[in-house]
Amino acid sequence: MTHPLSQLYYLDQALLRIERKIAQTPGSLDEIALEKKKLAEDEKQRREELEDLGKLIRKMEREGDDIRERIRRGKEKMKELMPVHAAEVLQHETAAFEAKLEALELEILENMEILESSEREVQLRQQSVAAKKIELEREGANLKKENDEYASDRDRMAEQRERFLSELDLELRRRYMNIFKGLGYTAIAAVTDGACQGCGARLTPQRAMDIQEGGELGSCQGCGRMLIGVEA
Ligand SMILES: [Zn+2]
Repeated sequence: MTHPLSQLYYLDQALLRIERKIAQTPGSLDEIALEKKKLAEDEKQRREELEDLGKLIRKMEREGDDIRERIRRGKEKMKELMPVHAAEVLQHETAAFEAKLEALELEILENMEILESSEREVQLRQQSVAAKKIELEREGANLKKENDEYASDRDRMAEQRERFLSELDLELRRRYMNIFKGLGYTAIAAVTDGACQGCGARLTPQRAMDIQEGGELGSCQGCGRMLIGVEA
């Protein structure tokens, strides 16, 4: 025998599950937004690092130009200088500058190699970040769509529930609404294995059987929920 409240019970159970899922969605969307933000920040930082390295290389190149200019001027001066010892001093100085220039050029070359490989790395990363972003966008859109579907399911079920309630025996409805005020969608509990599934209180075998057969519209003595039997 079908219990008069079983339809309400199943609607309430479904609404409870759906409300929980809907409540989880904003958190999941926040997580997606956070992940997108992290990706963007990470990318920005890498780009800044590359820019800094580029600036350093340009600065070194200017320094190299400066040294080259000094060497050039030194050599010109050397030709003009007649006293040998003065020319020698300049020659030492020039040699030192040339050594410095050579080291600098080597360093510039190394930095350029680092820059090049970093640029390649960033480029590859950008591709994977772009793919990840698309994936996150899709995930977010799916989640929103899913949530819209949940919301429309909920509205449909809520409507069905209202209709059911309006057609319910007045006394039963009053009892249900009183418990619903405190316990919401768990106002009706199923009896399975001789116990109330709302609070776990055990029933006498006779009562459990009566409720199982739909003969009794009782309440649980433990939690006050309306009890119904459901098919196992
Ligand atoms: Zn109970």
